[in-house]
Amino acid sequence: MEVLLENCDWVLTQDENRRVLRKTSVLVKDGLIEAIGRGLKGGDLVVSGEGKVLMPGLINTHTHLSMTLLRGYAEDLPLDEWLRERIWPVERKLTGRLCYIGALLGCLEMIRTGTTCVVDMYYHAGEVARAVHESCLRGFIGQGMIDVAGSDEVRISNEPLRKDFLNATYKAVESIRGLRDPKVKPIIAPHAPYTCSDELLAEAILLAERLDTLVHIHLAETRREQALFQKTYGCTVVEYLDKLGFLTPRVLAAHCVWLTKHDVRVLAERGVSVSHCPVSNMKLGVGGVAPIPEMLEFGVAVSLGTDGAASNNTLDMFETMKFAALLQKHSRWDPAVFKAQQILDMATVSAAEALGLQGRVGCVKEGLEADLILVDLKTPSLQPIHGPESLVANLIYSAKGLNVDTVLVQGKPLMVEKTVETLDPEAVYSLAEEGLEELGIKA
Ligand SMILES: [Zn+2]
Repeated sequence: MEVLLENCDWVLTQDENRRVLRKTSVLVKDGLIEAIGRGLKGGDLVVSGEGKVLMPGLINTHTHLSMTLLRGYAEDLPLDEWLRERIWPVERKLTGRLCYIGALLGCLEMIRTGTTCVVDMYYHAGEVARAVHESCLRGFIGQGMIDVAGSDEVRISNEPLRKDFLNATYKAVESIRGLRDPKVKPIIAPHAPYTCSDELLAEAILLAERLDTLVHIHLAETRREQALFQKTYGCTVVEYLDKLGFLTPRVLAAHCVWLTKHDVRVLAERGVSVSHCPVSNMKLGVGGVAPIPEMLEFGVAVSLGTDGAASNNTLDMFETMKFAALLQKHSRWDPAVFKAQQILDMATVSAAEALGLQGRVGCVKEGLEADLILVDLKTPSLQPIHGPESLVANLIYSAKGLNVDTVLVQGKPLMVEKTVETLDPEAVYSLAEEGLEELGIKA
């Protein structure tokens, strides 16, 4: 299939020189960006770029898609009560079908708001992957694993639990591979250092090496986690994982809020990449602020994640980009600590690098896979535009996901001029309603 994105007002290439082009067309053929230039012809589908900006699709490197079913369900509670009394009891009732439905709703939201690639960790990962596959998005999908039951003061492996979760992971990996979709890949997802024993963490690394894939984990999200490791092992959680030999370039760690400067250095030296989730951190009141300037200074690849819809509550990456900038500016007493361009890089090129997709997606360049979005600029909050820098600032500080107009993944149109092509929104909404009924939480 050929798609012509014709005469785009602006093209943010996100290439090495961050070139910005005017009045340019982009021709997409067989999944790849075939040509970039003026006056291009062709296309089985022609989408007008007039009054729009073409840019790489956004990459969300940490979420739990199926949690869209719990959006707005448990709000404004202390973290412990939120988890133990509201979230976990419902999660225990989740079936494969419910995780599939929740993930479909998540995929619909991502398409609608310009995300083209996602990293997910949750239960029934095979079903989550099926939703991502059917939506035609790109995804790295992992089965969350825990084996520390009961008190989290002592990390002792509950062996039957470990075996259950490892078996669930094997099963998920098999069903994801069974999709035969090169865009949807299995990853290994031990939940967090405080919910996983040393044995499970070691097993996770072995598995990831065998499958040649990523390890995705929550890391240093709360002060409580940091205190637990200090008290029990006399070192930080990052130092502890490093002693275990867990930290390698395969690791993509979500949050990384409560870190020392030494921790940041260790992450950089080991090639660990970080998914920064500012909205979730602020909503759950984790108190600290991830030391992103230091991470960038020491060379950690930082990307952005929304986290699940129970703690965000949207999967809108435009919103997350804005919060990422604001949180750092505010906490450092320095509006110059970040430029809008750096934030855009985190959601595109840096994320592609963290996922091993550099040179395949993340920029608008001939020969690359066409994961692209058009954003409609003909809306009050995105006008006027003073030049390329102002355009990027408008996208980070003023744009909303709903301003996204068209979405392509590997050259396939997932949304054209705000009409989602691969999913039927009404059908997804009624499935979600059925899901709530099944969970026993329908109003
Ligand atoms: Zn999370």
